[in-house]
Amino acid sequence: MQKLYEGKAKAVYTTSEEGVLVQRFKDSATAFNAEKKAEFGGKGELNNRIAGIVFRYLADRGIPSHYIETPNTRDMRIRAVEIIQIEVVARNIVAGSLSKRTGLDEGVRLSAPIVEFYYKDDDLGDPMITDDHIRILNLATEDELATLRRMALEINEHLIELWKKCGLDLVDFKLEFGRVDGKILLADEISPDTQRLWDADGNRMDKDVFRRDLADLVETYSRVHAQLIAAYPEYDFGTLPEAPAER
Ligand code: UDP
Repeated sequence: MQKLYEGKAKAVYTTSEEGVLVQRFKDSATAFNAEKKAEFGGKGELNNRIAGIVFRYLADRGIPSHYIETPNTRDMRIRAVEIIQIEVVARNIVAGSLSKRTGLDEGVRLSAPIVEFYYKDDDLGDPMITDDHIRILNLATEDELATLRRMALEINEHLIELWKKCGLDLVDFKLEFGRVDGKILLADEISPDTQRLWDADGNRMDKDVFRRDLADLVETYSRVHAQLIAAYPEYDFGTLPEAPAER
Protein backbone atom coordinates (compact mmCIF):
# COMPACT_ATOMS: atom_id res chain seq x y z
CA MET A 1 0.00 0.00 0.00
CA GLN A 2 1.18 3.45 -0.82
CA LYS A 3 0.83 6.45 1.48
CA LEU A 4 -1.08 9.12 -0.40
CA TYR A 5 -1.17 11.75 2.27
CA GLU A 6 -0.21 12.25 5.90
CA GLY A 7 -1.89 14.90 7.99
CA LYS A 8 -1.82 15.85 11.64
CA ALA A 9 -4.19 13.18 12.92
CA LYS A 10 -4.53 10.72 10.03
CA ALA A 11 -2.69 9.16 7.11
CA VAL A 12 -4.39 7.93 3.92
CA TYR A 13 -3.24 4.85 1.98
CA THR A 14 -4.15 3.27 -1.34
CA THR A 15 -5.51 -0.30 -1.42
CA SER A 16 -5.60 -3.03 -4.06
CA GLU A 17 -9.26 -2.20 -4.63
CA GLU A 18 -10.17 0.46 -7.19
CA GLY A 19 -11.79 3.52 -5.62
CA VAL A 20 -11.10 2.36 -2.05
CA LEU A 21 -8.63 3.97 0.38
CA VAL A 22 -7.74 3.39 4.01
CA GLN A 23 -7.47 6.23 6.48
CA ARG A 24 -5.37 5.41 9.53
CA PHE A 25 -6.05 7.35 12.75
CA LYS A 26 -2.82 8.45 14.45
CA ASP A 27 -2.14 9.00 18.14
CA SER A 28 -0.98 12.58 17.67
CA ALA A 29 -2.92 15.74 18.39
CA THR A 30 -2.17 19.27 17.24
CA ALA A 31 -3.69 22.64 18.00
CA PHE A 32 -3.21 26.26 16.98
CA ASN A 33 -2.27 25.33 13.40
CA ALA A 34 0.16 22.67 14.64
CA GLU A 35 2.09 25.02 16.95
CA LYS A 36 1.11 22.75 19.86
CA LYS A 37 1.69 19.04 19.32
CA ALA A 38 1.64 15.86 21.44
CA GLU A 39 1.29 12.07 21.28
CA PHE A 40 -1.53 10.28 23.08
CA GLY A 41 -1.48 6.46 23.19
CA GLY A 42 -4.99 5.21 22.41
CA LYS A 43 -6.30 8.37 20.75
CA GLY A 44 -6.17 6.92 17.21
CA GLU A 45 -8.26 3.89 18.14
CA LEU A 46 -10.79 5.98 20.07
CA ASN A 47 -11.30 8.41 17.19
CA ASN A 48 -11.50 5.56 14.68
CA ARG A 49 -14.25 3.92 16.76
CA ILE A 50 -16.11 7.18 17.47
CA ALA A 51 -15.97 8.33 13.83
CA GLY A 52 -17.09 4.87 12.63
CA ILE A 53 -20.09 4.96 14.95
CA VAL A 54 -21.00 8.50 13.88
CA PHE A 55 -20.74 7.72 10.14
CA ARG A 56 -22.94 4.60 10.53
CA TYR A 57 -25.46 6.53 12.64
CA LEU A 58 -25.64 9.24 9.97
CA ALA A 59 -25.86 6.68 7.12
CA ASP A 60 -28.91 5.14 8.83
CA ARG A 61 -30.45 8.61 8.78
CA GLY A 62 -29.83 9.20 5.07
CA ILE A 63 -26.49 11.06 5.16
CA PRO A 64 -24.11 9.64 2.52
CA SER A 65 -20.42 9.55 3.46
CA HIS A 66 -17.15 8.07 2.30
CA TYR A 67 -17.31 5.48 5.11
CA ILE A 68 -17.20 1.81 4.07
CA GLU A 69 -16.16 -0.18 7.15
CA THR A 70 -13.88 -0.43 10.17
CA PRO A 71 -11.57 -3.44 9.61
CA ASN A 72 -9.36 -2.98 12.70
CA THR A 73 -8.57 -0.72 15.65
CA ARG A 74 -6.87 2.07 13.70
CA ASP A 75 -8.09 1.91 10.12
CA MET A 76 -11.22 2.99 8.31
CA ARG A 77 -11.91 1.84 4.76
CA ILE A 78 -13.29 4.75 2.77
CA ARG A 79 -14.34 5.59 -0.77
CA ALA A 80 -11.81 7.66 -2.68
CA VAL A 81 -13.26 11.14 -3.28
CA GLU A 82 -11.99 14.44 -4.57
CA ILE A 83 -11.87 16.55 -1.41
CA ILE A 84 -13.58 19.94 -1.71
CA GLN A 85 -11.12 22.52 -0.37
CA ILE A 86 -13.60 24.01 2.09
CA GLU A 87 -14.04 23.35 5.82
CA VAL A 88 -17.68 23.71 6.77
CA VAL A 89 -18.29 24.69 10.40
CA ALA A 90 -21.72 24.64 12.03
CA ARG A 91 -22.37 26.18 15.43
CA ASN A 92 -25.15 26.01 18.01
CA ILE A 93 -23.41 27.67 20.97
CA VAL A 94 -20.76 30.42 20.94
CA ALA A 95 -17.20 29.12 21.45
CA GLY A 96 -13.69 29.35 20.05
CA SER A 97 -13.15 31.63 17.08
CA LEU A 98 -16.77 32.87 17.04
CA SER A 99 -16.28 34.21 20.56
CA LYS A 100 -12.97 35.83 19.55
CA ARG A 101 -14.43 37.32 16.37
CA THR A 102 -17.63 38.73 17.90
CA GLY A 103 -16.78 39.29 21.57
CA LEU A 104 -19.79 37.18 22.55
CA ASP A 105 -19.18 35.05 25.65
CA GLU A 106 -18.54 31.33 25.23
CA GLY A 107 -21.69 29.42 26.11
CA VAL A 108 -24.24 31.83 24.60
CA ARG A 109 -26.80 29.69 22.75
CA LEU A 110 -27.48 30.90 19.20
CA SER A 111 -31.10 31.48 18.12
CA ALA A 112 -30.42 29.38 14.99
CA PRO A 113 -27.39 27.41 13.80
CA ILE A 114 -24.65 29.37 12.04
CA VAL A 115 -22.83 27.79 9.08
CA GLU A 116 -19.37 29.12 8.19
CA PHE A 117 -16.90 28.28 5.44
CA TYR A 118 -13.12 28.23 5.68
CA TYR A 119 -10.60 27.82 2.87
CA LYS A 120 -8.76 24.56 3.58
CA ASP A 121 -5.14 25.70 3.42
CA ASP A 122 -2.80 25.11 6.38
CA ASP A 123 -0.18 27.57 5.11
CA LEU A 124 -2.79 30.33 5.13
CA GLY A 125 -4.20 29.17 8.50
CA ASP A 126 -7.59 28.13 7.02
CA PRO A 127 -9.02 31.66 6.56
CA MET A 128 -12.76 32.24 6.68
CA ILE A 129 -14.35 32.79 3.26
CA THR A 130 -17.78 33.78 2.00
CA ASP A 131 -20.20 32.30 -0.54
CA ASP A 132 -18.82 34.72 -3.14
CA HIS A 133 -15.24 33.54 -2.65
CA ILE A 134 -16.39 29.95 -3.04
CA ARG A 135 -18.37 30.54 -6.25
CA ILE A 136 -16.17 33.12 -7.93
CA LEU A 137 -12.86 31.43 -7.06
CA ASN A 138 -14.37 28.09 -8.23
CA LEU A 139 -13.95 26.19 -4.97
CA ALA A 140 -17.45 24.79 -5.47
CA THR A 141 -20.40 25.43 -7.78
CA GLU A 142 -23.55 27.23 -6.67
CA ASP A 143 -25.37 23.87 -6.46
CA GLU A 144 -22.56 22.26 -4.49
CA LEU A 145 -22.50 25.19 -2.09
CA ALA A 146 -26.24 24.81 -1.48
CA THR A 147 -25.72 21.08 -0.89
CA LEU A 148 -22.89 21.71 1.59
CA ARG A 149 -25.03 24.12 3.57
CA ARG A 150 -28.10 21.84 3.52
CA MET A 151 -26.07 18.77 4.50
CA ALA A 152 -24.28 20.66 7.30
CA LEU A 153 -27.62 21.72 8.78
CA GLU A 154 -29.12 18.21 8.45
CA ILE A 155 -26.02 16.64 10.00
CA ASN A 156 -26.23 19.22 12.79
CA GLU A 157 -29.79 18.10 13.65
CA HIS A 158 -28.74 14.42 13.69
CA LEU A 159 -25.62 15.08 15.76
CA ILE A 160 -27.53 17.18 18.30
CA GLU A 161 -29.85 14.16 18.84
CA LEU A 162 -26.96 11.69 18.90
CA TRP A 163 -25.01 13.56 21.56
CA LYS A 164 -28.09 14.54 23.58
CA LYS A 165 -28.73 10.84 24.26
CA CYS A 166 -25.13 10.65 25.55
CA GLY A 167 -25.71 13.58 27.92
CA LEU A 168 -23.60 15.94 25.79
CA ASP A 169 -24.37 19.30 24.19
CA LEU A 170 -23.14 19.78 20.61
CA VAL A 171 -21.49 23.23 20.58
CA ASP A 172 -19.90 23.29 17.11
CA PHE A 173 -18.15 21.04 14.60
CA LYS A 174 -16.21 21.00 11.33
CA LEU A 175 -17.05 18.92 8.26
CA GLU A 176 -15.28 18.15 5.02
CA PHE A 177 -16.90 16.88 1.86
CA GLY A 178 -15.76 15.14 -1.32
CA ARG A 179 -17.00 14.60 -4.85
CA VAL A 180 -17.36 11.20 -6.48
CA ASP A 181 -19.45 10.20 -9.52
CA GLY A 182 -21.21 13.58 -9.52
CA LYS A 183 -22.30 13.14 -5.89
CA ILE A 184 -21.23 14.91 -2.71
CA LEU A 185 -20.27 12.70 0.21
CA LEU A 186 -19.43 13.63 3.78
CA ALA A 187 -15.71 12.84 4.19
CA ASP A 188 -12.80 13.12 6.64
CA GLU A 189 -13.87 12.29 10.22
CA ILE A 190 -16.28 13.34 12.94
CA SER A 191 -14.65 12.89 16.36
CA PRO A 192 -13.89 14.90 19.52
CA ASP A 193 -11.00 16.41 17.48
CA THR A 194 -13.49 18.08 15.15
CA GLN A 195 -16.44 18.87 17.42
CA ARG A 196 -16.98 20.68 20.69
CA LEU A 197 -19.04 18.65 23.17
CA TRP A 198 -19.93 19.92 26.64
CA ASP A 199 -21.37 17.82 29.46
CA ALA A 200 -24.15 18.97 31.78
CA ASP A 201 -21.59 20.54 34.16
CA GLY A 202 -19.97 22.50 31.31
CA ASN A 203 -16.90 20.21 31.18
CA ARG A 204 -15.18 20.15 27.80
CA MET A 205 -15.30 16.65 26.32
CA ASP A 206 -13.27 17.36 23.18
CA LYS A 207 -9.92 18.64 21.93
CA ASP A 208 -10.30 21.82 24.00
CA VAL A 209 -8.96 19.75 26.95
CA PHE A 210 -5.67 19.62 25.02
CA ARG A 211 -5.84 23.13 23.51
CA ARG A 212 -6.42 24.63 26.97
CA ASP A 213 -4.70 22.01 29.22
CA LEU A 214 -7.96 21.24 31.02
CA ALA A 215 -7.88 17.47 31.44
CA ASP A 216 -6.37 14.24 30.14
CA LEU A 217 -7.25 13.84 26.45
CA VAL A 218 -7.36 10.03 26.28
CA GLU A 219 -9.45 9.79 29.45
CA THR A 220 -11.84 12.40 28.03
CA TYR A 221 -12.19 10.70 24.62
CA SER A 222 -12.61 7.31 26.38
CA ARG A 223 -15.54 8.74 28.31
CA VAL A 224 -17.11 10.09 25.12
CA HIS A 225 -16.73 6.65 23.51
CA ALA A 226 -18.15 4.91 26.60
CA GLN A 227 -21.16 7.26 26.66
CA LEU A 228 -21.70 6.68 22.94
CA ILE A 229 -21.77 2.88 23.15
CA ALA A 230 -23.88 2.98 26.32
CA ALA A 231 -26.48 5.10 24.48
CA TYR A 232 -26.17 3.22 21.16
CA PRO A 233 -24.97 -0.36 21.87
CA GLU A 234 -26.13 -1.39 18.39
CA TYR A 235 -23.29 0.68 16.89
CA ASP A 236 -20.51 -0.67 19.16
CA PHE A 237 -17.70 -2.38 17.20
CA GLY A 238 -16.82 -4.54 20.20
CA THR A 239 -13.53 -6.38 19.79
CA LEU A 240 -11.67 -5.35 16.64
CA PRO A 241 -8.51 -6.96 15.24
CA GLU A 242 -5.28 -5.13 16.04
CA ALA A 243 -4.18 -2.87 13.21
CA PRO A 244 -1.15 -4.08 11.22
CA ALA A 245 1.91 -2.10 12.38
CA GLU A 246 2.91 -1.04 8.86
CA ARG A 247 0.63 -0.41 5.95
N1 UDP B 1 -12.24 22.72 13.80
C1 UDP B 1 -11.56 21.63 13.25
N2 UDP B 1 -10.46 21.87 12.46
C2 UDP B 1 -10.00 23.12 12.19
C3 UDP B 1 -10.68 24.22 12.75
C4 UDP B 1 -11.79 23.98 13.55
O1 UDP B 1 -11.96 20.49 13.44
O2 UDP B 1 -9.01 23.25 11.45
C5 UDP B 1 -13.44 22.50 14.63
C6 UDP B 1 -13.19 22.80 16.09
O3 UDP B 1 -12.79 21.64 16.78
C7 UDP B 1 -14.54 23.28 16.55
C8 UDP B 1 -15.15 23.93 15.31
O4 UDP B 1 -14.44 23.39 14.20
O5 UDP B 1 -15.36 22.19 16.92
C9 UDP B 1 -15.07 25.44 15.30
O6 UDP B 1 -13.74 25.83 15.54
P1 UDP B 1 -13.37 27.39 15.73
O7 UDP B 1 -13.65 28.10 14.45
O8 UDP B 1 -14.02 27.90 16.95
O9 UDP B 1 -11.81 27.40 15.82
P2 UDP B 1 -10.82 27.06 17.04
O10 UDP B 1 -11.31 27.67 18.27
O11 UDP B 1 -10.77 25.55 17.04
O12 UDP B 1 -9.53 27.67 16.54
